[in-house]
Amino acid sequence: MTTPHRPADSAHPFDTALAFLGDRLRVGEPLGALCTYRVGGSAARFVVVQDESELNRIAEALAQAGAFVGEASQPELSVHVIGRGSNLLVADAGLPGLVLQLGEGFAEIEILDSQAPGSQESPQSKRGGSDQQGSNILRAGAMASLPVVARKSVAAALTGFEWAVGVPGSIGGAVRMNAGGHGADMAASLTGVHVLDLETGENRWVTTAALELGYRHSTITSTQIVLHAELHLASGDRLLGEQRLAEIVSWRREHQPGGHNAGSVFRNPPGDSAGRLIEAAKCRGLRVGTAEVSTKHSNFIQTDSAGSADDVLEVMAQVVAQVGNHSGVQLRAETVLLGFTDEQRSRVRWPNTTTPSLDDDSSEQAL
Ligand SMILES: Cc1cc2nc3c(=O)[nH]c(=O)nc-3n(C[C@H](O)[C@H](O)[C@H](O)COP(=O)(O)OP(=O)(O)OC[C@H]3O[C@@H](n4cnc5c(N)ncnc54)[C@H](O)[C@@H]3O)c2cc1C
Repeated sequence: MTTPHRPADSAHPFDTALAFLGDRLRVGEPLGALCTYRVGGSAARFVVVQDESELNRIAEALAQAGAFVGEASQPELSVHVIGRGSNLLVADAGLPGLVLQLGEGFAEIEILDSQAPGSQESPQSKRGGSDQQGSNILRAGAMASLPVVARKSVAAALTGFEWAVGVPGSIGGAVRMNAGGHGADMAASLTGVHVLDLETGENRWVTTAALELGYRHSTITSTQIVLHAELHLASGDRLLGEQRLAEIVSWRREHQPGGHNAGSVFRNPPGDSAGRLIEAAKCRGLRVGTAEVSTKHSNFIQTDSAGSADDVLEVMAQVVAQVGNHSGVQLRAETVLLGFTDEQRSRVRWPNTTTPSLDDDSSEQAL
């Protein structure tokens, strides 16, 4: 059920500061439609940002309106960025602050020819897009879709990003999460990202080393917005690339459920798989209301149409408890939770609780 924190038509602390957006500053925007779970409440205020200059203006206005500074005492002043919503669970109560989503102006994909002069911004592309024979730079906006980037890279006879064809997220979300699968991840090809810090207004190039990418981990904070990323890919064979894309797509169809879900719900503990532990704890098919553990892949939760985020959270909490009882392993959520209370989040151990048996820096696990 969608129950906004405040009536949709009442004034909001950001209304004056963001008045320049006109009707594009939406009121009570339902977020379920923007998330692959298709559940969750509304954002009190929401905008699809057109381009970088508009984003800079929004950042300035938010800083002046006291966003970030007063966030702890006034949840209305919170700001969240969402990508393609494929790793998100938004509470049914919704979000009292502002949600930003980058628009099509951030979805461009450019392959920088190795002979081209290169970008002005990154050390990698400054060298002409290539730092070794047969390697190339692909620049993608933060909202570019991973499957589209994967297919474009193959069409340009590049190799190394085929793994992303089955991950329905954006480049920005993938950098934040260090998304990966099939033995690779963002860290394998990323040279760096352009980031805007909403809190400080600072816009800078951040190298991959500074991002400290680990298993579903980066140093990107909640006030930092990835604007675009550069990938360093090797020259490959187009036909072999297309074959690899087809193999990955069919592997996904065979092993993962369709319908409404957000991919893997829990992180794999070192040396083990969350799916195996969930299955061993007899949670396959566990249902609460409108949500259930997939019978096809135990680390996925599926929601019914017109489902509820609270049901998803309850399934997650019961899985954590049952796996803990069965194997002693404390699963931790991979899915990003927005709008839930501390007590609710602690039940699924998100974002952070310390248990020595689990290690964020564990090596990448292929799905
Ligand atoms: C069917 C399915 C299969 C999946 N398979 C995989 C898989 O194999 N491997 C894997 O790693 N994941 C997988 N996922 C999860 C998900 O697709 C990835 O985590 C993806 O990278 C999330 O991107 P997004 O744009 O959807 O981010 P969102 O879900 O919208 O957001 C996730 C996080 O990223 C942040 N974020 C989003 N955009 C930006 C930005 N521009 N700047 C800064 N922060 C940002 C958000 O604030 C949030 O904290 C799967 C999901 C589904 C539904």
